[in-house]
Order: sequence, then structure tokens, then C-alpha cells
Amino acid sequence: MLDQNTSAQLKTLLERLESPIELVATLNDSDKSELVEEVAALSDLVTARFDGTNQRAPSFGIAKAGEDLLQSSGYAPKVSAEVLESIKGLGIKSDFDVFVSLSCHNCPDVVQALNLIAIYNPGTTATMIDGAFLHIGQGRMTLEEIVAKLDTNSAAKEAEKLNAKDAFDVLVIGGGPAGNTSAIYAARKGIKTGIVAERMGGQVMDTMDIENYTSIQKTQGPKFAAEMEAHVREYGVDIMNLQRVSNIKGASETANGLVEVTLENGAKLESKTVILSTGARWREMNVPGEQEYKTRGVAYCPHCDGPLFKGKRVAVIGGGNSGVEAAIDLAGIVEHVTLVEFDSKLRADQVLQDKLTSLPNTTVIKNALSTEVVGDGSQVTALKYKDRVTDEEHTVELAGIFVQIGLLPNTDFLKATAVELSNRGEILINERNETNVKGVFACSR
Ligand SMILES: Cc1cc2nc3c(=O)[nH]c(=O)nc-3n(C[C@H](O)[C@H](O)[C@H](O)COP(=O)(O)OP(=O)(O)OC[C@H]3O[C@@H](n4cnc5c(N)ncnc54)[C@H](O)[C@@H]3O)c2cc1C
Repeated sequence: MLDQNTSAQLKTLLERLESPIELVATLNDSDKSELVEEVAALSDLVTARFDGTNQRAPSFGIAKAGEDLLQSSGYAPKVSAEVLESIKGLGIKSDFDVFVSLSCHNCPDVVQALNLIAIYNPGTTATMIDGAFLHIGQGRMTLEEIVAKLDTNSAAKEAEKLNAKDAFDVLVIGGGPAGNTSAIYAARKGIKTGIVAERMGGQVMDTMDIENYTSIQKTQGPKFAAEMEAHVREYGVDIMNLQRVSNIKGASETANGLVEVTLENGAKLESKTVILSTGARWREMNVPGEQEYKTRGVAYCPHCDGPLFKGKRVAVIGGGNSGVEAAIDLAGIVEHVTLVEFDSKLRADQVLQDKLTSLPNTTVIKNALSTEVVGDGSQVTALKYKDRVTDEEHTVELAGIFVQIGLLPNTDFLKATAVELSNRGEILINERNETNVKGVFACSR
């Protein structure tokens, strides 16, 4: 039930336990005991029992009267003595139910605050409820996404509508900057154009500040995405949002000579040509704190977010060309850059390495395994790493961490198709942006 990354993060956190704790599960017919068993298996100091009688099922509590998981085990609450005194003096008896979204940045603060209040006020309880488990979804959701969730038959209805569409001249897969631009150029030729995208806007939806788009001094990602979509709609492009493509057959593989695109809901679209613009996602470190402090110190795009750290200390994770280039660029903006490399040597071109070491405000640390992003609840304050030679733990105090350990192309769905990919999963194209499959092209921003 827990994925590998979550297990690894949880295991690291549980290593901080200094005394045993017990997880008490209250189960119902759906039997969700697996999660509790998995958590208990991560530490010798955690045991589980399944005879809880909580009014909510399935649920689990942490059985150690008057204490909570981390704060009871040598991990002192991060509040001043004065605030702690105020909490102790509340003298309340209340039951707090906190509905959280796992992608919400503020939720951990609220949950920890109410846990603390419950610990120091006997008779008070704090229960965290994952909104996604009991309700329709979690995190930022558009109206279309909510309607789709509420309509239990929506996938079948949507598939029926999509199947009824006539063949396109150009069908773009992906609704990021590259896909939208392709669609505009195609539609301006007066040909029948469509976009099918899992999420219109693409990666820019995940950033607040965009400051490098010539002629627009500053804009926000979601605003930029909305304007791109409005621009595309001006040309009458058929936008099929929230649709994930699962397969593609080239023009020479189909009976009617059209490219066939299959969606996850089973619908099939046809087009004379298809442009793949499914973009990429940053490769993550998968260490505790990384998700929590994304956009609050953990960054992936040096040229986008570098200026936000002007005059501050930052780290760059990764000593390949992009990491070393990032460190060089950042050194011109920030107070100091620490480059952290897992291996015993940097992989970047020598010329870049020479440039980096010639800069007065940079340090290179090799053989370093990044282990944790540390923060104060609102911003990153440090990076922890383990020296792989000596096994010693170190902490570097800083305000920003730029993760430069590569990008992962969104091409998993192409692995079972005839479209040729590089050994890193990138789509291979010729000088005309054609893939090896007839009628299928690819582009990216
Ligand atoms: C946090 C952050 C901040 C950034 N800030 C900046 C900045 O300030 N300036 C800048 O120039 N760049 C910035 N970038 C980089 C920029 O966003 C990307 O370079 C750009 O979005 C890439 O565009 P794209 O169209 O190639 O791919 P993407 O934006 O990745 O779009 C891919 C599209 O394909 C869709 N898709 C993927 N798989 C499928 C599938 N199987 N079926 C259907 N659809 C699919 C996705 O839903 C999406 O619509 C930032 C990126 C991030 C993550």
C-alpha cells in the first residue's frame, strides 16, 4: 500500500523515535489493516494492534497517553516556552477533526498545532482525516475535475462522446506550452485541430512566478496557462482536457491509414497526423521534507526561481552538466552555492567544472547522499547529507535547494508502442520532428 518512496521517508522519520509507540487500528469491513502493518514493520519501536473502538472506521490512533508520535520521542515541539505555557493553560476539552488534503502545504502545520493542543490538554483529541479517503478528491481541483468525480458514469459517457468525433487533421497530445503552440500553428492553416491533454497548461500550472517570457515582465503559471488556453480556443481548436492517452498506432499500422490514439477511458481518436508534446517532470530526491517544502525553498528550475534567493545561501543537488551550470548561474545571484554530488566525481564537462571551482562563493561536496530537507514549518532552513565515505551526517544551513538530478520524460505510455525512444525514454525525432512512426511527430518546449 505504501510506495517505496513513502516507506523510505517514513523509515527515516521513525528512526527518531526514542521510546516505543503502539498503533491502534479500528477496522471495518473494508479491512485497511495493511497500512498499519506496513508502518509497524518500519521500526522495532512501533507495534500494532487491531482492536480499536474509535467511532470512525477505518482509522488508527497512536496509543501513548498524553504524547504524540514525534514530539513524545525526543523531538521537541518547535514552539516557544511562552506559547507552550499558553497551550497548557487552555484547559479545554474538545474533539478536533481536521480534514486534510495530502498536497496541501498548510495542513501539516494545522495538524501539528492541534496535536500539540490535544497532548497538553487531557480530554482533548485531535483526529486527522484524509479528505480524499472519505470525499471526492484532494488538493486543487477544477470544476471539470469535480464534476467528473461526482458523475460515476462520466468515463463511459465521455468515451462515447469522444468516439463520435470525426478524424482530425492534426491531433496534439499534451496541453503544455509546446502542445498549445503546435495547435495554434496548425489551426492557423485552417485545418481541423484538436488537443488531448491530461492537464491543460502542463508544468507551468505548478509555478507561481514566470519572469522570462519576453514582453511579459511577470506573470503567474496558472494565469499564463489560462491565457494560452484562451488563445488556442480563439482558433476553434477542439480541447479534450483531463484525458490521458494510453496507446498510439501509426498510420501504417491501421486499416484506414489514420493514426489511432487510444485514451485511458477506452475512447479512440483518429487523425492524419499526431504531435506528441507530453513534456517531462523533474526527477525528485525522494527524501523527507522535499514534498513539504516544494515552492518554499525546494526548487527545480534555477533560471526560473534563482532570483528569489538573491543574497541567500543555496545548494544544488547533482554534479552533471545541468547541476554545475545551475551552480555557476546561481553563484552570480546568491550569496553562496554548495554543490552536492552523490558520486566521487562530478560528471559535468571539465570546462564547466573549472569555471565552477574558479568562483569564490561556491563549495563542492562529493560522495554525499542527501538525506533530508529541513525547515522551520514555513521555509527551508537546511539540508542534511551523509558522507558516503565516513558515514557521518552533516547539516548545511541554507534557504534554497535546487534539485538538478535530471528530468523524466512523460513517455511511459509509448513504451508498448512502435515509437522509438532513447534509453532514457526520450522520443527520438529527425530534423523535421518526425518520429519513426508514420504520421507521428514530437516536440517540446
Ligand atoms: C515549478 C516549475 C517552474 C517553472 N518555471 C518556469 C519559468 O519561470 N520559466 C520557464 O521558461 N520555464 C519554467 N518551467 C519549465 C516549463 O514549465 C517547461 O519547460 C514547459 O512547461 C515544458 O512545456 P511542454 O509543453 O514541453 O511540456 P509540459 O508543460 O510538461 O506539458 C506536457 C503536457 O502533456 C500532458 N500529458 C503528459 N502525458 C500525457 C498523456 N499520456 N496523455 C495526455 N496528456 C499527457 C500533460 O498533462 C501536459 O498537458 C518551470 C517548470 C516547473 C515545474
